[in-house]
Amino acid sequence: MKCKVAVVEKMGAPFKIEEMELAEPKEKEVRLKVMTCTICHSDIHGIRGEHGPYEGCATAGHEIAGIVDAVGPGVTYVKPGDRVVCAIIRAGCGTCDPCLHDRTWFCENIPPLKFREPGPYTRADGSVPIQTGSSATGFAEYCNCHESTLCKIDDDIPFPVASAMSCGFITGFGAVINRCRVKPGESVAVIGCGGVGISAIQGARISGACPIIAIDVMDNKLELAKKCGATHTINPKYCDVREEIRKINKYGADYTIIAVAAEGIKRQAMDITAPWGTVCIIGHARFEDEMMTDISAMEFLTGKKFTGSVMGALNLRRDFPKYMEMYRNGLIDIDCMLTNRYTLEQINEAFYDAEHGAVKNIIVIGGE
Ligand SMILES: [Zn+2]
Ligand SMILES: [Zn+2]
Repeated sequence: MKCKVAVVEKMGAPFKIEEMELAEPKEKEVRLKVMTCTICHSDIHGIRGEHGPYEGCATAGHEIAGIVDAVGPGVTYVKPGDRVVCAIIRAGCGTCDPCLHDRTWFCENIPPLKFREPGPYTRADGSVPIQTGSSATGFAEYCNCHESTLCKIDDDIPFPVASAMSCGFITGFGAVINRCRVKPGESVAVIGCGGVGISAIQGARISGACPIIAIDVMDNKLELAKKCGATHTINPKYCDVREEIRKINKYGADYTIIAVAAEGIKRQAMDITAPWGTVCIIGHARFEDEMMTDISAMEFLTGKKFTGSVMGALNLRRDFPKYMEMYRNGLIDIDCMLTNRYTLEQINEAFYDAEHGAVKNIIVIGGE
């Protein structure tokens, strides 16, 4: 079928909207009518080649909520008409050794997602864009995805909310809940208060953490962090983060969540974390920009830990329904993170705004 897709001609170029031919869904693949796709900072990195270079034209968008339009051979989980999110994690097979140990990310029976690989679209000139941040393309009217990446969403969950939850939210929230398993009264510092950081703060609040310290250079994000549960805020533009943290907690934070990629951040995170505490990295840049040559192995002798979390260490179809229920009951706030709405044609403006202070911008494609 033919549909509109946002495409960049080469790494770093602006998007343009083109009509392209979308291939029929293959074995275990599903065609989605994309309703909304929120912008994740990974989209910005991905399309610029900052998560890895690529040749030729490319598409993006991975926080996808939509409606199943057609199913390929062998699909059993969904049928046309189902409302779903498409995530960049797989629901595991449930029977292999990693799945039985709640490590569905490493499932042996479902093919791993492919990034920066040619997608299912063919342009008028015959070229095939690669898909940058996912194995699907959310900035398009229709996309194909593997059924293992889908989770059904309830009728009362708005598409923009489901979109925002599908990556940014679960990444931050899950890092605190599933990876760090923060306990009541423990202290949590969150560096970077975009969509992921704000979600980590909500995870800390739900866990009963105290104090919850939000760190960001943008005051509007710190304001939002306060609304979402931060007990303290620090803007590094006006003070020394290391000194400020010790005024709040003399030992440093039990947990420091890194939800942004920037120079010197890991060093700073180590410095503001208690000697027994844990640094958990979520936000990252290019592989080669993430070498940690300024951290000594000696720093771990006191029991300090450095770990990471990908996609909130989530079990997709077990945890996503729980989070929808928490949203429904007002325990978590997704709407407060949703900043502005744009059409697919306004995607360049939406990306610009996402980079300049918006927490979570929404591209509305099929409707809300
Ligand atoms: Zn994302
Ligand atoms: Zn498995």
